[in-house]
Amino acid sequence: MARQIEPPIIVDGHLDLAWSSQANGRDLTRTVAEIRQAESRTRDSVMLTLPDLARGHIALVFGSLYAEPANLSFAQDLVAPPPGHHPPGYTTPEEARAQAVSQLEQYLRWEEGGHLRLVRTRDDLEDHLRRWPRDPVPGVVLTMEGADPVLVPDDFDWWWRQGVRSVGLAWTGTRYAGGTGDPRGLTAPGRELLAAMQERGAMHDASHLAEEAFWEAVDLTAPGALIASHSNARTLLSSATRRPDLPPDRHLSDDMIRAIGRGGGVIGLNLMNSFLDADWTLRERAVPVRVSDQVARHWAYVADLIGWEGVGIGSDLDAGAGREESPEELDDAGDWPRLAQAVPEEHREAVLGGNWLRVLRANLPNTGAAKPQLPT
Ligand SMILES: [Zn+2]
Repeated sequence: MARQIEPPIIVDGHLDLAWSSQANGRDLTRTVAEIRQAESRTRDSVMLTLPDLARGHIALVFGSLYAEPANLSFAQDLVAPPPGHHPPGYTTPEEARAQAVSQLEQYLRWEEGGHLRLVRTRDDLEDHLRRWPRDPVPGVVLTMEGADPVLVPDDFDWWWRQGVRSVGLAWTGTRYAGGTGDPRGLTAPGRELLAAMQERGAMHDASHLAEEAFWEAVDLTAPGALIASHSNARTLLSSATRRPDLPPDRHLSDDMIRAIGRGGGVIGLNLMNSFLDADWTLRERAVPVRVSDQVARHWAYVADLIGWEGVGIGSDLDAGAGREESPEELDDAGDWPRLAQAVPEEHREAVLGGNWLRVLRANLPNTGAAKPQLPT
């Protein structure tokens, strides 16, 4: 009997799992089918839950701590505010921290319940990859999107000890850096925070950095530690200038892509339709968005600039944009292997997961990060 060929291991570089769970009141230990039946939504239908990741061969994800500001600025027309939205957005650093801590606690509860394995070190990673084929519990690398929860730069050490291995200084602008729709550079605390991250060996996620902040940060980040977990090629979205909901700085210019690629970093492709095709809006849905079309085009474009070793997945789905705002071929997590059709065969294993694994092996601490304790 012919041996079944296993699809390659898939790594998704950006999922807001804890935020999605808390903002939507979703129990992500249930299946996609169960949640869809219970919610019966026509927008932002769930695609990824913890047990369903295995169906899609998604062995590892970057799981964010994402504190949501009260001022949603650029995003308010772009994504769906979850019904009964909870908790309310932050207006102070302390409130931002409380949101992120509550999400950290969520990941730790999932870990305690055996629903995921937190990956904090290179040993954890190798151990997880060895166990996964027989025990396909998803691995999660903790990240932070928007650094306002870090009260002062010295406080980063605490987050590092909890297992946070990558930080994006901005979402929209924060106290640390200009961000999407808020064009500024780094602030003095932003430069200090980057130094604190570099001292520990944390990755620096440029996904939402304003352009000015990006170029300042390039010089303050170890080359191999600079990534963009969920951003696309701005050049392919240039007609978006007529879209008020999509700030022109949300995605990466060709020069920014090259700067990330030069250091060996990876750029995860964001799979939200409106980030794949500027002619697609939730209201008009003027063009079909397909893995075989726009997804393939974005990957090929970035690969042409920095090589296939510089691209990966950073879907960002279920963060206010679910089934109705994702490519036609993707109904839920089980369809992630279909992304392979957008990549030349010889590069599939790398793009679907191998490139992110290479970056993690290069950046995760070897051993020794203490088991985190729940804050009291
Ligand atoms: Zn984001």
